[in-house]
Amino acid sequence: MTPGRSAPHPTAEKATKDAMSNATTVSPAHSASTASTLITNIAALVTNDPSLGDRSPLGLVHDAAVAIEGDRVVWTGDQRKAPATDNRVDAGGRAVIPGFVDSHSHLVFAGDRTEEFNARMSGRPYSAGGIRTTVAATRAASDAELEANLTRHLAEALRQGTTTFETKSGYGLTVEDEARALRIAAAHTDEVTYLGAHIVSPDHADDPAAYVDLVTGPMLDACAPYARWIDVFCEKGAFDGDQARAILTAGKARGLHPRIHANQLSYGPGVQLAVELDAASADHCTHLTDADVDALAHSRTVATLLPGAEFSTRAQWPDARRLLDAGVTVALSTDCNPGSSYTSSVPFCVALAVRDMGMTPDEALWSATAGGAAALRRDDVGRLTPGARADLLLLDAPSHVHLAYRPGVPLVREVWRRGVRVA
Ligand SMILES: [Zn+2]
Repeated sequence: MTPGRSAPHPTAEKATKDAMSNATTVSPAHSASTASTLITNIAALVTNDPSLGDRSPLGLVHDAAVAIEGDRVVWTGDQRKAPATDNRVDAGGRAVIPGFVDSHSHLVFAGDRTEEFNARMSGRPYSAGGIRTTVAATRAASDAELEANLTRHLAEALRQGTTTFETKSGYGLTVEDEARALRIAAAHTDEVTYLGAHIVSPDHADDPAAYVDLVTGPMLDACAPYARWIDVFCEKGAFDGDQARAILTAGKARGLHPRIHANQLSYGPGVQLAVELDAASADHCTHLTDADVDALAHSRTVATLLPGAEFSTRAQWPDARRLLDAGVTVALSTDCNPGSSYTSSVPFCVALAVRDMGMTPDEALWSATAGGAAALRRDDVGRLTPGARADLLLLDAPSHVHLAYRPGVPLVREVWRRGVRVA
């Protein structure tokens, strides 16, 4: 699409556009020679722009079209007002939604923990499990093995609609193994998180303070160049509030921004610490006091809920309804990891959130797209409006509600990332 050509609303009018219109436009940032594509005949389009369509948080537009140029969305709205483009794609009356933003995963690992899961679900005691099992397997793996495992899981997630993902270290727990995990992750995503403070390394079991010194010293030095974020598992048996504060503060001093595994297994200081340090996200949030909820509601910190973990451990669900009613921004992600949540499927998490956590289908879809983007402090993904990255999904369904209505059904028919169909 040529800038301005046949676009119904020039850029200058964007701020004051006709309240009856579903359409906005911007000048493409890319060269005029870039081919443009119009995806049209969309029964229901989720834009996540409340100024569009039905004016809900999803900005739902019926009988819609999306224009793409290069890797960006350049126009969204009523298909009858769509601009001319080089190519057209007929969505066949399907729903189109933003690609999922999975803001919490642990994908640099080796081995699996089938026996541990089987024992847990069978009510049998099992003493050899836990993060340490994966640490041993990960340390023993070659770089090529770790990368192959990561790319296999990324391909799996992509087929299910995840177009942006965060992933963490945390199964190396030595300077070399943590840096290696982050280096491998950084080749595949910009959203890389240093989680040297996953558990106290088995090598330092008798001296946790020495391990905190390592995490905040030489390990941080080695890891900071590869990471955007720093995370800590703030929980009984992992790191207490003072240790977590020291670790995250050291990371901030090196330019890493905090996010926290908080209040997953028990009440604790994690959420309050997340708010105190302006963490982008407090993740899990299963056991919250009223003060925790209030602190989140009056902060920029997103509550990221990870129902795959509660599903896979038969644990109490986080109360999404309580958080939403208090005004907290909620994200939904997979926590994909080989121990406590071995699913890469955001649609599965959406279905669980609707069935068991009190979320409406609209809220769950928002949290899995725009919510994930907020948890990564991104505004270029998780929405389908001019200027956003052209990451979108065609569903084999007339509405996004089918993601929860038809749980377990592979409804993601096409995945487009950066303006190109990739699955
Ligand atoms: Zn996690």
